[in-house]
Amino acid sequence: MNMHIPFDNSYARLPARFFAAQAPTPVPHPELIALNVELAEELGLDAQALGGVEGAEIFAGNRLPEGAEPIAQAYAAHQFGHWVPQLGDGRAVLLGEVNGANGRRDIQLKGAGRTPFSRNGDGRAWLGPVLREYLVSEAMHRLHIPTTRALAAVRTGAPVQRETVLPGAVLTRVAASHIRVGTFQFFAARGDVDGLEILTNHVIARHYPDVKSPMELLHAVINAQAVLIAKWISVGFIHGVMNTDNMAVSGETIDYGPCAFMDTYHPDTLFSSIDRQGRYAYSNQPAIGAWNLAQFASCLIPLMGDETAAVAEATEAVHGFMDVYERHWLAAFRAKLGLVGDEADDRDLIEGLLAIMATGAADFTNTFRSLGQDTARDQFIDPGAFDAWLPAWQERRAPDYASLIAAANPAIIPRNHRIQQAIDASVAGDDALFHRLNNALKTPFELTEENADLARPPLESEQVLQTFCGT
Ligand code: AMP
Ligand code: MG
Repeated sequence: MNMHIPFDNSYARLPARFFAAQAPTPVPHPELIALNVELAEELGLDAQALGGVEGAEIFAGNRLPEGAEPIAQAYAAHQFGHWVPQLGDGRAVLLGEVNGANGRRDIQLKGAGRTPFSRNGDGRAWLGPVLREYLVSEAMHRLHIPTTRALAAVRTGAPVQRETVLPGAVLTRVAASHIRVGTFQFFAARGDVDGLEILTNHVIARHYPDVKSPMELLHAVINAQAVLIAKWISVGFIHGVMNTDNMAVSGETIDYGPCAFMDTYHPDTLFSSIDRQGRYAYSNQPAIGAWNLAQFASCLIPLMGDETAAVAEATEAVHGFMDVYERHWLAAFRAKLGLVGDEADDRDLIEGLLAIMATGAADFTNTFRSLGQDTARDQFIDPGAFDAWLPAWQERRAPDYASLIAAANPAIIPRNHRIQQAIDASVAGDDALFHRLNNALKTPFELTEENADLARPPLESEQVLQTFCGT
């Protein structure tokens, strides 16, 4: 008897050229590493059953729950600025959609085997990127940052060949949708205006029900991305591979590949081993967001009536991204510093702190957090610069700055070296560190004695300076 999941698959009802029907490829030995019980319940799923053998089989792709209509979605992209007309889900299969407590959600298996879009890839994922995405996406959610989520991780029992042989795994990803800027590009590049219109109407109905036109959709997506990227910047998050196929039109963070949180603050921070130019470095993210949105805007032009007028208005909308971003950035950093209300000098005050954090090699997360405990000085190799900055802030901060700062600044983030340690242990067969980290990341604003070591920046010997794409 197969488990019943109340699927309602709206994407699978779109025209056939939007996707390829594709069942997941079974694996030899499914073994559940983690089930996100809270998320399962939010989706209305039977967490008890999913925690057992049947769950492991479903999340590995060995057993299709009733009502699933597995598909691989078609899309295109600019990758590192270069046009790629045909990508699509090469190692992911969308099982279907469910209407959960927080609305419609995609349930997707990532690493589920080859699809018609796999090109030369094996369609698989290895354990490391699966655990990284699980930890980081769930941490982002707890930091109140829009994101896809992790419902489950399983071992497949099959090795995958990368530079070395590594254990295979599958991540079950939950998303408001997996529709990307690159999905629009797929149809726009083919001159498929009907397809574009169908996609646009689908996205409006699904994500922006108040929107009445493609131009309004453009504004809505610009706004959602400006909000999102300001949030990334405010926690020191570096996505790492902001290609247009990795930007969701829903405004969720998607595709955790070589992503990382900064330890020591520096605006040029970059971890991805494949990003040699620094295109996707920390402080470049807003500009790249705007660049991606310009690609999105150009896709929508054929739906916007008079072309000259549409180009002018869409260009203005894209240029407006930075203003929206700046407003959200300022609001986020005011909160981080325990400032209430708006004052003209706030930007200088914030930028002054960031500048001395960069020269003083200060830990991003712990500096902001410790401002609330009056211990931030200890974060700087050059405390003199901090002492010089301090009086202006003392003058400006709200009387209850300590509690404001504790609520706005996390103590526990998924530090890169901890993720690496967890992955190393899990590759050796011990998932205890993964579970410990995952648990601590559920309450990022609470520093306890038990999790104090997770708030510590890496020792020199623990530092991880590079991260790799999730392939
Ligand atoms: P990503 O870097 O994860 O955004 O992936 C970029 C593209 O490469 C997407 O179309 C993926 O589906 C595809 N891809 C990545 N890894 C694999 C793999 N192991 N097998 C097949 N396709 C892959
Ligand atoms: Mg991708």
